[in-house]
Amino acid sequence: MAFELPELPYPMDALEPVISRKTLEFHYGKHHQAYVNNTNSLSKGTKFENADLETIIREADGGLYNNGAQAWNHTFYFLAFGPDGAKEPVGALADAIKRDFGSLENFKNEFGKKAATLFGSGWAWLVKDDTGKLQIIQESNAGNPLRKGLTPIMTCDVWEHAYYLDYQNRRPDYVSSFWNLLNWEVISERY
Ligand code: MN
Repeated sequence: MAFELPELPYPMDALEPVISRKTLEFHYGKHHQAYVNNTNSLSKGTKFENADLETIIREADGGLYNNGAQAWNHTFYFLAFGPDGAKEPVGALADAIKRDFGSLENFKNEFGKKAATLFGSGWAWLVKDDTGKLQIIQESNAGNPLRKGLTPIMTCDVWEHAYYLDYQNRRPDYVSSFWNLLNWEVISERY
């Protein structure tokens, strides 16, 4: 079963001005597509040929892990955006953020710091452990929390390709604008 690039539930200019059409055309249309294509070609003829992406993330190594994780990470990132979605967490996730971070404002500050200070390429993640406790972690390169037995709730891509066309070196500006894109209804359902 070949993996495919997921359809986005919004038009290519829907994330402007935070993320431009041009960035989305490259980031989703070229980078994300390449990770999907590479996962297909690298899994062919291996024991992962018919595996799902989660299995590849948990068990594969090297190029297949990197590309499979990147394919998953980008789908998770892009599908959390929605200009018309809920602006704040709802239900159990809203309660858990208050419990584990004190307030939504404080969570955003802590998450923003982790995203802005991650050295090099990678992802900032909001994850939950087996008990439902939330934490913010940094992962380098393709790193995906499923590998550590954690459940991803939300992520921010801080590879330069995510923001360089729009923000150049100003990663903190990208991260602080990123909040305006999130559809918290989608994210809250992941908790
Ligand atoms: Mn990316």
